[in-house]
Amino acid sequence: MAEVLRPADQRFVSRLTARYPRLHMPTFDERFSREPRGLYKCRDALVVAPISVREVSGIVALCNKERIPVIPFGGGTGLVGGQVAPDLERPLVLSLQCLRAVRSINAARDRMTVDAGLTLQEASIAAADAGRLFPLSIASKGSSQIGGIMATNAGGVHVVRYGNARDLCKGIEAVLPDGSVVSCLDELPKDNSGYDLRNLIIGSEGTLAIITAATLKLFRPPGESATALLALNGIEAAHGLLALFMDAFPDQVSAFELINRIGFEFLVETGLRQRLPFGNSSEWLVMVDIGALQKSDVEKHVIKVAEAAEDEALIVDGILAQSEGQREELWAMRELIPSAHIRIGAVASHDISLPAEAIVPFVNSAAQRIAAIGPFRVNCFGHFGDGNLHYNVFPPAGGESREFRHCRTPIVDAIHGLVRGYGGSIAAEHGCGRLKAAELQLHGNSARLAAMRAIKDAIDPHGIMNPGAVFPLA
Ligand SMILES: Cc1cc2nc3c(=O)[nH]c(=O)nc-3n(C[C@H](O)[C@H](O)[C@H](O)COP(=O)(O)OP(=O)(O)OC[C@H]3O[C@@H](n4cnc5c(N)ncnc54)[C@H](O)[C@@H]3O)c2cc1C
Repeated sequence: MAEVLRPADQRFVSRLTARYPRLHMPTFDERFSREPRGLYKCRDALVVAPISVREVSGIVALCNKERIPVIPFGGGTGLVGGQVAPDLERPLVLSLQCLRAVRSINAARDRMTVDAGLTLQEASIAAADAGRLFPLSIASKGSSQIGGIMATNAGGVHVVRYGNARDLCKGIEAVLPDGSVVSCLDELPKDNSGYDLRNLIIGSEGTLAIITAATLKLFRPPGESATALLALNGIEAAHGLLALFMDAFPDQVSAFELINRIGFEFLVETGLRQRLPFGNSSEWLVMVDIGALQKSDVEKHVIKVAEAAEDEALIVDGILAQSEGQREELWAMRELIPSAHIRIGAVASHDISLPAEAIVPFVNSAAQRIAAIGPFRVNCFGHFGDGNLHYNVFPPAGGESREFRHCRTPIVDAIHGLVRGYGGSIAAEHGCGRLKAAELQLHGNSARLAAMRAIKDAIDPHGIMNPGAVFPLA
């Protein structure tokens, strides 16, 4: 039975500030009330930004005692509404923004322990300063925080080589709802002494604990890299092209991103770029990134692979970045696509993953289903190398997404129905948050859901942690 939760009212604020007279309480503004896609809006909340793990622990314990809902808040870049709670009366938003230290870097052991509030970009720079690479890369790196990255088990463009956040995490420190601190930082390579709490907390989207620090796995940076943008001879060709690159560069393919031409057209339409990288040569393109540890004429070999791909009629055109500047520009174009989407406004967005063999049949069937619903523009793109597509549906040119709000449910039902039919997942790298919580209950595996519920109830018996995320409100 769900307990009745209370608002963080004036009486609670007085108790909190009596205990922590110098508590930092940022203003509840736009940053905390909205999420990037504007789907969820929170009207009121008490925001606190503790300056130590001890403070996090004390605040959460008090919330637990008083039955105040706690919404962990990182960079606010999550795309499934996990960080914004519109249906709760004045929850406490716990921002990690003041916990920003790099606690330690051990380059010899390829590990770095950082506070949860450090941004991904800051963590990557700290690793680079120590001569190492932290390879997780997403377009929101300037704002998203390590705590949010771990809480959502973020993916990004380098999963094909380095794995997702879970694979890149060697330890977690987290505050449980009763205020106790679980410290599993810098774990030993071998430690089978019980349940794996690190992996339970990673991907829990703030519903079990507040992550306060993480130990990250670092890598030797590539000594030589090459980036190419290749125009495909149809989406089917992406499989053959990936196989050619994987064979030619075993363990060195750092990214293999599928791009639809419409994504680049959106950059022009929204004024983010002036022109397309190619003419109208192909509907489908791939951005491939190769990173070799040793200098080994990577560019020459990439050209050879591209020539072989042309001989096999897999590609029709291509650009190989000739300088670091060109490389950065190609990646900037890829990374700006989500910003163009936000400017245009999607009718529906989907973050899905599919078995490799289902990608092409899915794309073909989905195009037919969407066309049957309305005259939409579709940008299907994403991390082809790991079977993760973003299937985003937009109004026709000149239209507004709000005019097509009534089409959202039929579109989502059509796409997610197809994904389930092909044995895929409707929550690939962004998580469930509030956006997919109800659908998860409806279609998820019942034994798995029951086990998840039991874990949630055991760790958070009063249900204060991020109510409404992952599990819908009762
Ligand atoms: C332009 C753009 C591009 C993106 N590209 C990608 C991509 O390629 N791949 C990808 O996976 N994601 C992507 N995202 C989504 C997003 O950036 C990630 O989900 C990111 O991991 C969220 O981090 P955050 O710090 O902003 O978390 P928030 O948005 O603040 O929170 C997200 C969730 O985590 C919880 N949370 C946050 N901090 C903590 C903490 N310390 N302890 C416990 N729970 C916490 C929140 O309660 C919420 O449920 C993108 C987003 C944008 C806007």
